[in-house]
Amino acid sequence: MATSLFVRAWKRFARYRHPRRPQTAPSRIRIEASSFCQLRCPSCPTTAGAIHPVISSGFLRFADFRALIDRNPSITAVELSNYGEALLNPELIEMLRYAQRKSVAVNLHNGVNLNHCRDELLEAFVKYQVQMITCSIDGASQETYRVYRVRGDFEKVIGNIKRINHFKETYHSEVPRLSWQFVVFGHNEHEIPVARAMAAELGMTFHTKISWDAKFSPIRDKEFVRAQTGEQAVTRKEYEEIHGRMYLRDGCLQLWNDPQINWNGKNLGCCRNFWGDFGGNAFTDGLAACFDHEKMRYARSMLRGQKPPRRDIPCSTCDKYDAMQNRSDWIVRDDV
Ligand code: SF4
Repeated sequence: MATSLFVRAWKRFARYRHPRRPQTAPSRIRIEASSFCQLRCPSCPTTAGAIHPVISSGFLRFADFRALIDRNPSITAVELSNYGEALLNPELIEMLRYAQRKSVAVNLHNGVNLNHCRDELLEAFVKYQVQMITCSIDGASQETYRVYRVRGDFEKVIGNIKRINHFKETYHSEVPRLSWQFVVFGHNEHEIPVARAMAAELGMTFHTKISWDAKFSPIRDKEFVRAQTGEQAVTRKEYEEIHGRMYLRDGCLQLWNDPQINWNGKNLGCCRNFWGDFGGNAFTDGLAACFDHEKMRYARSMLRGQKPPRRDIPCSTCDKYDAMQNRSDWIVRDDV
């Protein structure tokens, strides 16, 4: 009893000495340009409609994008891709043009499928200096690619990459840097070497990714995949066992560094969350208010292991948080 009284008194004293500074708006944000996608990848929550209750269907409007940039001069970089296909947004070119005018770097780093885009948009990537584009291409032939990227057209994707390269030559531009992301499955593992060689020919960097759904087309030849990827783990579960930490754990750092905003302004906190919100709307309440929302602050404390889970915080029902809890693998100051 005496100890807890002392602790409470000490906390009050500490708050008096070091009042909590309100967070300012972040310099990097993630905002979904489109939650629609034209493909039907079997394990994707967008295909299953699981994102719909919270994310719903829509495009980021140029007017909202412009207002957000204008009201938050601290923003220096924006990521536009997440659960949908950002390139379907009919106002994307206007956003790219405006971002360049305001010296805001645009990235499509999370990933685009690059199946459908007008030539004008491919040119705009170069003309307005998009910094980085990750293309999700899980195969080196149409036959293999379409098993997961259902409705996708491999030849069209490669053709669009060649057009971007054409515009890069025309404009003598180094950007956008192009990256080929290959999610490894049992049905496409044999094509990793060919895909890597194609990526090099197209001037792209190449990286493999472990699927989040180990049940869909599981790895067949583990030794071959290990040799090709340089990674001992072939599933995310294995990764956790071998490395003692979650695969893609850094995604949680978005709560500190580059929060995810939905196309309609809802504060989603991180790019993985599609089942709840972290409070506030960046368009109506302001970005700084979202970033400093009580739910964001509470979630950060949870992820540091300083507060217990709370039902209204999306992390409470996230498998990443479960894994963190199980291993006491909390976010520490150096991570952030
Ligand atoms: S625990 Fe889950 S919901 Fe919370 S920040 Fe990490 S990935 Fe997002």
